[in-house]
Amino acid sequence: MIQFVCDGCGQQLKIGDEWSGKLGHCPYCGTNSRVPGYPRRTPKWKILARLLAAPFIVGLGYFLLFSIVDVWAGVYFLMGGMIWCVVMLGFCWVVTNVGTFLSCPREYRLWKKGGGDPWFDTLDPPFNNDPPSVRYFELYREKERMENEAIFGPPPPPPPDPSDRRMDDPNFL
Ligand SMILES: [Zn+2]
Repeated sequence: MIQFVCDGCGQQLKIGDEWSGKLGHCPYCGTNSRVPGYPRRTPKWKILARLLAAPFIVGLGYFLLFSIVDVWAGVYFLMGGMIWCVVMLGFCWVVTNVGTFLSCPREYRLWKKGGGDPWFDTLDPPFNNDPPSVRYFELYREKERMENEAIFGPPPPPPPDPSDRRMDDPNFL
């Protein structure tokens, strides 16, 4: 369920997750409002910046220390340290992604399709402060769907998308 406020009349509205990002008709005033998406993950570049901040500060300290003797030695030390950190993080990313893909390919695809990533989404705070409901959104939704299907059988076809009406629709304005 997504809860949001109508742009036109300010009424509290509720709608199913499958409408996320689509245009919806307010039942109270008729205004078309964009249904908000689920809470987005922290951008990956922000997480990377947080991961690299600590080694950068340490490297900078060594850089200042070395530059007393030789500025270029300091520069090489800082560059080398940062490149090593990026290579290490890249290695962890590849291992986590390949491992997840090999152990559960279907869940991996769902996860990636929703913009998630097994490595970024399993990093602890302070690097990634997203709550589990955001990190594992696709996996939770899939689990819920499978549980519902086990109880109620396959779901009915989704409701028609009002932003997707064709010109030959008699209701098209
Ligand atoms: Zn309204």
